[in-house]
Amino acid sequence: MISRIDLRGDALPEGGALRDLLPRAEFDVEAALEKVRPICEDVRHRGTAALIEYAHRFDRVEIEQVRVPAEALRTALAELDPAVRAALEESVKRARTVHREQRRTDVTTKVVPGGTVTERWVPVERVGLYVPGGRSVYPSSVVMNVVPAQEAGVESLAVASPPQADFGGLPHPTILATCALLGVDEVYAAGGAQAVAMFAYGTEDCLPVNLVTGPGNIYVAAAKRLLKGRIGIDSEAGPTEIAILADDTADPAHVAADLISQAEHDPMAAAVLVTDSTELAERVEKELAPQVRATRHIEDRIIPALAGRQSAIVLVDGLDEGLKVVDAYGAEHLEIQTADAAAVAARVRNAGAIFVGPYAPVSLGDYCAGSNHVLPTGGCACHSSGLSVQSFLRGIHVVDYTRDALAEVAHHVVTLAEAEDLPAHGAAIKARFDWKVPQSK
Ligand code: NAD
Repeated sequence: MISRIDLRGDALPEGGALRDLLPRAEFDVEAALEKVRPICEDVRHRGTAALIEYAHRFDRVEIEQVRVPAEALRTALAELDPAVRAALEESVKRARTVHREQRRTDVTTKVVPGGTVTERWVPVERVGLYVPGGRSVYPSSVVMNVVPAQEAGVESLAVASPPQADFGGLPHPTILATCALLGVDEVYAAGGAQAVAMFAYGTEDCLPVNLVTGPGNIYVAAAKRLLKGRIGIDSEAGPTEIAILADDTADPAHVAADLISQAEHDPMAAAVLVTDSTELAERVEKELAPQVRATRHIEDRIIPALAGRQSAIVLVDGLDEGLKVVDAYGAEHLEIQTADAAAVAARVRNAGAIFVGPYAPVSLGDYCAGSNHVLPTGGCACHSSGLSVQSFLRGIHVVDYTRDALAEVAHHVVTLAEAEDLPAHGAAIKARFDWKVPQSK
């Protein structure tokens, strides 16, 4: 069901060469760009009419309007299963506790007497939050998008999620209920690349936004890459990945369950076990078959995900090599199931989120750890972070210098301007001092 990659024996290659030996999905966001480009252009020019057509083509549902009526949000919340409501409220509470602590305070640095630079943190004005809803529906992603945006102080936020044929062309009722629970009243029945384009260009119904965040499939990731610049994006949070670094102290039943838990998202999802224990590898392989049989989404998602070239058990000589492998892989989710897991976790450099020890499975982080589950995939964890309050803030430098403070450094500015052959830069300084360069004291 899952292949093996044996990296034991020779020394591991460095950097890119090591990455090339590791499993990764065959999907290619670059190729998907060509698919989503015409969709985005169409939405740009035809607005809501194009969104309605794509709902028909990709979501197989006839809709007459894209904006979800306020009444539908209220009804969804009123009809929400009380147990699901209680679980969502707990998820929101924990996410708020963590994200509230991430708020930044402005910092003023006195560079010289009379000269200060303040870093002012200002929330993005309007954001579009994407909540996936193709194969599964993700009310948890409403929580993970909305809570940090609200904690950052974003004033205007809109949610988009695919229209569902079973629910009269509205997004899934649990998604609507979660929006209502969080006080979000601007919701659109739009999915995929077309939803990202709606946010970027605006339509008759939806004002354009400054920033789009949220996870999604390859078309969502491609549209975010295509429209980046016109809009800000968080990271490319595409098909999910789990890597587990484990030694012979790990429980094979837990390891197998956690690999399957992420494989059930998507046939493109990746599940990777990195271990120095052949015995653990064999026991995990044995555990997989009965556990897969006992769950749902077997043929359409779990088996293709586990059997795909993006998933594997990687055998290494020891923990140091294991750490090199997981760093080169840069997993969205990394579990450490080893002896002294906290110390091992502290040595990891590249991961979207790290789950330490036997009682911190990724499922906990997906819903109720308080951490964010919108995380970089495809190796982007080497340069990007998961969603946080910071994703919704911009730091603005405020420069405040007196005449004396400027005079003190003027000759250096003029020298550097001349070195760059930009004399007008120097002139802007001289103009303030009767066209002479003040000499430093
Ligand atoms: P989705 O909402 O991302 O995508 C559904 C939309 O894709 C549809 O509405 C449709 O518009 C579009 N689409 C489908 N087929 C298309 C085609 N052939 N051409 C163009 N557009 C098409 O829902 P999903 O498909 O279930 O994917 C959700 C993804 O989000 C999963 O891969 C899951 O792993 C991932 N996810 C990632 C994170 C993270 O933080 N990285 C978190 C949660 C979920």
